[in-house]
Amino acid sequence: MGCMSDAAKTKSADVAADPGRKSMDDIMALCKRRGFIFQASEIYGGINGFWDYGPLGAQLKKNLKDAWWQDCVLSPPTGPDGREVEMVGLDTCIIQHPKVWEASGHVGGFNDPRVDCKQSKGRYRADHLFVLQSTGKMLAKPMYAFIEGDEESEKRAYKLMAKYLKTNLPLPPDQTDVVPLAQIPLSEYHRLVGPDANEPGTLTEPRAFNLMFKTYVGATASEDDVAYLRPETAQGIFIQFKNVVDTSRVRVPFGIAQMGKAFRNEVTPRNFTFRSREFEQMEIEFFCHKDDAAKWYAFWRDWRLAWWRSIGLGSDNLQLREHDKDELAHYAKEGAGTSDIEYRFPFTYPGFGELEGVADRSDYDLRQHQEHARVKLEYFDTERGELAPNGQPKGERYLPNVIEPSAGADRGVLAVLCEAYTPDDTRPSKVYMKFHPRIAPIKAAVFPLVNKDGMPEVADKLARDLKKRYSIIETDAKQSIGKRYARMDEAGCPFCFTIDGDTLKDNTVTLRHRDTQEQERIGIDKVASFLGEKLGLQEN
Ligand code: ATP
Repeated sequence: MGCMSDAAKTKSADVAADPGRKSMDDIMALCKRRGFIFQASEIYGGINGFWDYGPLGAQLKKNLKDAWWQDCVLSPPTGPDGREVEMVGLDTCIIQHPKVWEASGHVGGFNDPRVDCKQSKGRYRADHLFVLQSTGKMLAKPMYAFIEGDEESEKRAYKLMAKYLKTNLPLPPDQTDVVPLAQIPLSEYHRLVGPDANEPGTLTEPRAFNLMFKTYVGATASEDDVAYLRPETAQGIFIQFKNVVDTSRVRVPFGIAQMGKAFRNEVTPRNFTFRSREFEQMEIEFFCHKDDAAKWYAFWRDWRLAWWRSIGLGSDNLQLREHDKDELAHYAKEGAGTSDIEYRFPFTYPGFGELEGVADRSDYDLRQHQEHARVKLEYFDTERGELAPNGQPKGERYLPNVIEPSAGADRGVLAVLCEAYTPDDTRPSKVYMKFHPRIAPIKAAVFPLVNKDGMPEVADKLARDLKKRYSIIETDAKQSIGKRYARMDEAGCPFCFTIDGDTLKDNTVTLRHRDTQEQERIGIDKVASFLGEKLGLQEN
């Protein structure tokens, strides 16, 4: 099974034609060469849609997830009401009672790949669609999809084609061609006009209706024992909502955060880790009263965008996109907010791909579980309701609204990798990975200039001191200092400290900055505080 789809490979010619575009080929090669990301099961030829993180990648991903947990759960932001947001963490199972997925709407009646039309809202079996395209002299950009065996639909396609070509029906048979949808590559979908649409590019790629991986619980493997690997972490939060409210001191509005693996049997995994079959999510379900939903939605949307910027996606490659009305998900109410935080990946360039979705899910999920489990999930809010004669509110019982910022850890890592990747304009083989220091897998390197004259001992001592406070400090005494710096530039290490002859005389070290390659001398006793400041940590 080949792993790297062609779509993931941004050809060098494209990159040369547009200097704003980075080469996905080169980024993937660096990920392999430096141990960020490997194909899963590579020695067996790989398995499509699965990726492993190597030593540098595992640390990078951990740093990203730690930053998310730190900033969302341990030290959450100030909310729109001026108070610190209330947030607790949760860690629920990948396998849950199968009824969870019936309630959530993930177990449906269909298992066939289908395409959706974003314009007409039509849903079609992918194997039931044919496509009319022009050939020969009458070349037309759009292609028209129609439903097999549906005469009206077929006629419509021919009519639209004739109109586009400014000609009359019948079209000369040698100038057109009809092929099954399966023969149209995804890269041409932007030319496809859906059977009930009037503009191209509104059909989604074919997706299995049921994307969930099935498994069996217990030894018998009978149909009664079917269970599913979770396709999102969110449902684990909803089904423990009551326990969290009953056992911790949280009060609405508050959030529950969870990160963990999710599995989707994507029909066409592609674009490196962007669309994989096993991936990790970082999700918040924020529970609030429905009257406050719009306020909290706007808050989370803006704060999550700012968060991605704060960890290094500061360029115009990051954008926020509010969904159009016709894109609203099944759970979203008319007028409720839904937006995507998007990154301009090399393979979506000049377009953008979703990094995180922020949605007002109304009370849909809690209501679904309340009905399916027949357990009351309402919250009793003592601060609301009519006033009693003593002037105190009588309280109000309600199902809270939910605002969900749902991010992908793997897509986050991929965006960070793409953003950091900076080839040297003057030396073609040289690359800098300009990670934000907080996310960088190696925080600092401590090098003896040469492996003698007391320098290794001083370097060792400094490295040992730093390691007590900061994770992953690299020490290396081999090779020339230039080669060691270059290695650190590729690994994305932001700062190198070099111990040389002068250090032994005046207790200063050379500090080399990755991004500017500038060097300066600082006191050896200032190294720890310098790093603390750069990594956003308080010195104690
Ligand atoms: P898409 O439209 O790209 O399939 P989605 O809207 O279905 O994504 P959500 O269900 O909102 O995605 O999931 C939340 C986040 O989980 C996404 O923003 C993305 O970062 C991540 N994610 C979803 N599917 C995948 C996947 N197959 N591989 C990697 N990450 C994924």
